[in-house]
This record gives sequence, structure tokens and C-alpha cells, in this order.
Amino acid sequence: MTPIKNLNLKDKVAVITGGGGIICSVMAKALAAKGVKTAILDLKKESAENVANEIKSTYGTESIGIAANVLDKSNLESAKQIINNNLGSIDFLINGAGGNAPSATSKAERIEPENLDQLEDTFFGLQLEGFEKTFDLNFKGTLLPTLVFAKDMVQKQKGGIVNISSMNSYRPLTKIPAYSASKAAINNFTQWLAVHFAKIGVRVNAIAPGFLLTNQNRFLLIDEKTGEATARGEKIINGTPMERYGTPEELTGTLIFLLSDWSEFITGVVIPVDGGFSAYSGV
Ligand code: NAD
Repeated sequence: MTPIKNLNLKDKVAVITGGGGIICSVMAKALAAKGVKTAILDLKKESAENVANEIKSTYGTESIGIAANVLDKSNLESAKQIINNNLGSIDFLINGAGGNAPSATSKAERIEPENLDQLEDTFFGLQLEGFEKTFDLNFKGTLLPTLVFAKDMVQKQKGGIVNISSMNSYRPLTKIPAYSASKAAINNFTQWLAVHFAKIGVRVNAIAPGFLLTNQNRFLLIDEKTGEATARGEKIINGTPMERYGTPEELTGTLIFLLSDWSEFITGVVIPVDGGFSAYSGV
């Protein structure tokens, strides 16, 4: 027996939800670079198609972009038909679609004793509708694609699922309780499903990214005028022992590892890729 196996990824078929987005487009490209055939699913048809076209021209591996809503089961079933017809039976699922709703975000970080007349800026001003949207996207948006796409893996008795969690799942950031609790639910579900699938060769794990600087959060973390870190950005850097933000590319090694035969005996784990953030007490 050789001491280390091949990755065994070539010609496997991966479905990547949220594949038109910042993190998952890079994940899809990393899989394609290792010979994986990719189905890029996104609410935004154009983003999904652009990523698939870029993959085909850069890596020469098969890829299709499909408009699909992770909250619509029949929509996902139609996508599965397209994938099965064009790429074959599904081996991997990356549950990447996720996000936060502004109406589930409090203006204030904490309730201050001197501001008891401004409770609308706190927990008490949050909207149930925002909680529902955020929980639906992050939790149901992982549950439904798993119900639809894991069937192929269960039939073959081999496959890999990687859910995208967050640092918020361990220690919630201020202001975003719905996002934090829904990502904690992802960690718990990852463990539950890993146990449920353990005897049939389908492994279920998650990645908890640390803080990445993206176009969406740049305005919150860097002062546009001065180019200096904002107070929130400074807190993040101070809480990250490596003293910098991560990049989407730095998540791909862990993804490849979790889907490959290099991690054959690993299921039910959530791996932080965070520059040490989750290990640091701040002291
Ligand atoms: P992003 O907004 O760039 O990508 C998310 C993609 O999901 C978008 O392309 C969007 O169109 C798609 N999407 C949204 N709702 C959908 C739906 N109902 N059906 C199908 N697709 C839908 O965000 P990102 O920063 O790349 O985040 C990807 C994942 O990583 C998310 O789960 C996010 O919570 C998680 N995450 C991000 C960070 C970060 O710093 N960016 C950190 C930790 C975790």
C-alpha cells in the first residue's frame, strides 16, 4: 500500500451553489484546475454563465452555468436533470450560496444604559422578515440542494459535501444575530448529516472562512478617503494573529483536501481557515 493516495478528483462532477459569487467562483475554478467537471449554480444567470465560460476557456474542463434558486426544490430538480444529461452523475456538492439581510442587522453593537430611548437601533428593532430571509438562505439553502444533489452520491455510495460556514458560527459578530445563528445551524447540520451518511461513503464537512476583504465589505473595513482601516476593520485585524485578511484562493486547498481521497477518514468536521482568528483570545 502506498503511503499517500492520489487526490482522485479528475472527471468527477461537482455542483457549486452560489458559484457566480466571490468565494465560490474561485472554488469552482480550483476544482476545474484539478480536472473536475463543474456545474455553476447561481440565482444570477449571467454570473453563473460567465464563470462557466471562463472555466472552459482557461482550464479546458467541462462546465455549465445554470440559473437556479437554492430555495426552490423543483428548480433544483430541473438543474439536476441538466447536470446529469450534460456532465453525468454528481460526486460533489459545495453549498456556497449564503448571506445576510440588512433588516436582520442591528445599528448598534450593544445596548448602552444611556441610550434606552433608542431601542429601535438594537435587538428590538430587528425584523422577523430579515431573520426568516437569512435563515432560509443559509440553512434551507443548504438543506434543499443537499436533498436534491446528494441522491446520486448515495446511490454510488461515494461522494463529498462541503458546506460553507463562517467564524460567526463559533463566536457571533455584533449586529448580525440571524447570520451568526444560521451559520451555527450549518455546523450542527454538517455533523448530523455526516453521521447519517457515514456508512455509505458520503462525507460531509464544512469550511469556516475567516475574514476576507471583498468588494462587498471593503467600504465597511477600509476608509475610502484615507485608505486606513475603519474601527471595525482594525478590530478584525487585531483579532487575527496573522494580522491580515484572507483571500478566496486561500480557501481552495482545504476544499480540495476535503473532497479528495486525502481526507477519506474525515467526516463531520468544520475547518477554520482564518489566519488564527478562532484560536486567539485577544490576549
Ligand atoms: P457572494 O455574495 O459573492 O456570493 C454568494 C452568491 O450566492 C451570489 O452570486 C448570489 O447571487 C448567490 N445567491 C444568493 N442567493 C441565492 C439563491 N437563493 N439561490 C442561488 N444563489 C444565490 O458572497 P461570498 O462572499 O462569495 O460568500 C459565499 C459564502 O461564503 C456564503 O455562504 C457566505 O456566507 C460565506 N462566507 C463569506 C465570507 C466573506 O468574508 N466573504 C466569510 C465567511 C463566510
